[in-house]
Amino acid sequence: MFSRVLVANRGEIALRVIRACKELGIESVAVYSEADKDAPYLEFADKSVCIGPASATKSYLNIPALIAAAEITEADAIHPGYGFLAENAHFAEVCRDCKLAFIGPSPEAMALLGDKVSCKKMARRAKVPVFPGSDGAIEDPKEAIEVAQKIGFPVIVKASAGGGGRGMRIARNDEELHAGLDAARQEAEAAFGNGAVYVEKFLEHSRHVEVQCIGDQHGNAVHLYERDCSMQRRHQKVIEEAPAPHIDPKKREEVCRSAARLIKNAKYSGAATVEFLMDDKQNFYLLEVNTRVQVEHPVTELITGIDIVQTMIRVSAGEPLPFKQRDIKPTGHAIECRINAEDPSKGFVPCAGTIEQFDPPGGPGVRMDTHVVRSYRVPPNYDSMIGKLLVHADDRDQAIRRMARALDEFHVEPIHTTIALHRELMQDPGFVKGGVDIHYLERLLKK
Ligand code: ADP
Repeated sequence: MFSRVLVANRGEIALRVIRACKELGIESVAVYSEADKDAPYLEFADKSVCIGPASATKSYLNIPALIAAAEITEADAIHPGYGFLAENAHFAEVCRDCKLAFIGPSPEAMALLGDKVSCKKMARRAKVPVFPGSDGAIEDPKEAIEVAQKIGFPVIVKASAGGGGRGMRIARNDEELHAGLDAARQEAEAAFGNGAVYVEKFLEHSRHVEVQCIGDQHGNAVHLYERDCSMQRRHQKVIEEAPAPHIDPKKREEVCRSAARLIKNAKYSGAATVEFLMDDKQNFYLLEVNTRVQVEHPVTELITGIDIVQTMIRVSAGEPLPFKQRDIKPTGHAIECRINAEDPSKGFVPCAGTIEQFDPPGGPGVRMDTHVVRSYRVPPNYDSMIGKLLVHADDRDQAIRRMARALDEFHVEPIHTTIALHRELMQDPGFVKGGVDIHYLERLLKK
């Protein structure tokens, strides 16, 4: 096992990893930018190191600074969390070259599954359903039009290296496809330094269903069942839950097994999420694979009782998975509400500033993952998420009631947060019924 893990991240996920290390008896090293120098979670780590100024490119994305911090503190592993460098294969490779264990997949597996074209190829081989579309990257607009005519409009042009919703264009006819190819290619070239794009069928009404998987270095891989993350705004998840409501048990088995098969075939070690879109007939198609721990991982922890972050650390140290597929028996229903420092009444503008009052909820079945305490100052430099409120209960109705109760107890002053929005959503008939599509929340917010 490792003796000291450097946590290459900030905020709630940094604290989450520090907690996992403590419970495993491993020391942790926190890093911080100048904007985070007073963050309370730094105290919980065994050591902390400043890695640069507020700007993320100079701190949390600064590979030499992170490697130097690991070397100075004699860490033997790095946990990247999510965001920042978590899906950067070059960073994983630099870690390996510097004899630091990267708590995640090998750079090769990350590159294979992180690139959408190679991931899709791998999925086809593993008999995982993918959207009909081009076989690989498309060079010639004529080829794109042939593909679109074969599969039928609408289609979507996507960047192979895509992320964060960039390099995507929907096309409903030949002209839009021509324009979309150029635009997507340029956007992808500028954002990722890789202009490769491909074309696939665009599904109008779908749900986002994703499967948590984890593999080890001995060829074992399991799934930890699915989550529904269809409540989204601008491709950002707002509420996540498990299990996905109203899915036929057979379909559920099918989608979960497909995901595990893909991870196993890729000889993948570490946590991964296989994301799918599901249509109203419960046909599902691969969207992408995230090769890291996700924000919403605690939803799965609550229904399975498995500590995903600890398991990631253990498999990275070479241990075999401590459970088999048949040992994983999900119970009850879990929901997560992302609490963002944003003002929903003003177009969700981020609200930085000092939090004078912070009273998080408690009681049965409530989990609060946050790095925030009273007097914490939310810096303006990073993501606006200040915490995740989760509940677990016997079934979905009880989980919704429990979440509503927890949100009622939750008070944050004076900055604006999404707490009030979540209170409304817990009473929204569409959400309460369950099974909404990925555009539902945006339609609701427009009303
Ligand atoms: P990124 O890596 O940029 O987040 P994704 O492949 O995850 O890209 O796609 C982002 C979003 O775009 C999805 O959540 C979905 O809303 C939409 N999308 C992507 N591909 C399709 C598709 N084939 N049909 C319908 N919507 C799609």
